[in-house]
Amino acid sequence: MSSTVIQKDRTYNTRNGVYHHNQMVGLSYGQKMKATSGKGTMYLLHPTPELWTKVLPHRTQILYLPDISFISMWLDLVPGKKVIETGTGSGSFSHSIARNISPDGHLYTYEYHEQRFEKAKAEFEAHGLSNIVTSKHRDVIANGFDIENYVDAIFLDLPAPWEVIGASKKAFNKGVVGRICSFSPCIEQVQRTVLALNEHGFTGIRMYECLVRDFEAQHIPLPDISTAMDGAKVKFKKLQFEQKLAHKRKRLDTDSISTATTGNNSDASNSTNNGSSSYYRYSLASKCGQCETRGHTSYLTFAELVPILESTTVAVSGEKEEEAK
Ligand code: SAM
Repeated sequence: MSSTVIQKDRTYNTRNGVYHHNQMVGLSYGQKMKATSGKGTMYLLHPTPELWTKVLPHRTQILYLPDISFISMWLDLVPGKKVIETGTGSGSFSHSIARNISPDGHLYTYEYHEQRFEKAKAEFEAHGLSNIVTSKHRDVIANGFDIENYVDAIFLDLPAPWEVIGASKKAFNKGVVGRICSFSPCIEQVQRTVLALNEHGFTGIRMYECLVRDFEAQHIPLPDISTAMDGAKVKFKKLQFEQKLAHKRKRLDTDSISTATTGNNSDASNSTNNGSSSYYRYSLASKCGQCETRGHTSYLTFAELVPILESTTVAVSGEKEEEAK
């Protein structure tokens, strides 16, 4: 999978064939296209944040979809939200944030590495996100954020997140519950961040780790009783039972029991012994494929900043004082 900008008379070359950009014009998204030379085919897909995360040029470690979706849910990134992200890095998460908070939200993304800042800014412009994303070239640990009492959510992907918890507190809109998430690869960073969150009065502090575990869907056969009884353990008892039954029948026969009754018994015996009449039902079940968990990228520490109601002093006396209380 790769991303390309369609340009007149250009070709896209792969080891399975050559594709002419001119022939892509006018095709629908999702359509299959044959190589002009070579045996290959490919699909033309509409760009999305999910696809961009798969093909973007890596300038740093990036966030992937399991973490992106989990963080987006916990930070409540929905249309209209004002969000801070730092550092911008390769802009993987920024694209998802921008899509989620569109059309009337805004993302302020901070990066202190100049080239990364420039590249990310150029990409946001090229992807038509300039009205949703503001890129800022700034060292947030040294200088904090240049925003106060404004944002709903803050995402930190920094080597020392605990250093910006104080600045984050200032940036939150004090009229709403602010949500913060810090993405840290090791538990020592989590511990320091949690201490800083506690010191600054954040609540609801919790930490998660997103791990990948495969589950395989399978059809499990559910044998009926008769088939199960053919199993090794039961087989011997069944044999004993049948022998006893045969013996009993023999005795009854010799005692001249009516033909009709003997016929019924014989039918029952046939149905028990008739292996071909047994059948399997199937149930859909899931089984843990590789029973080891993989995919640790980072620990996700979440917390909330709940607005504190300002206390008001009212001068009252007598009965009114009781009412006021
Ligand atoms: N979350 C990003 C993504 O999905 O593409 C990746 C972020 S990357 C791991 C961390 C970034 O933080 C780096 O680009 C680094 O330059 C930046 N950074 C580190 N310290 C910083 C600071 N004090 N101020 C601003 N940015 C900083």
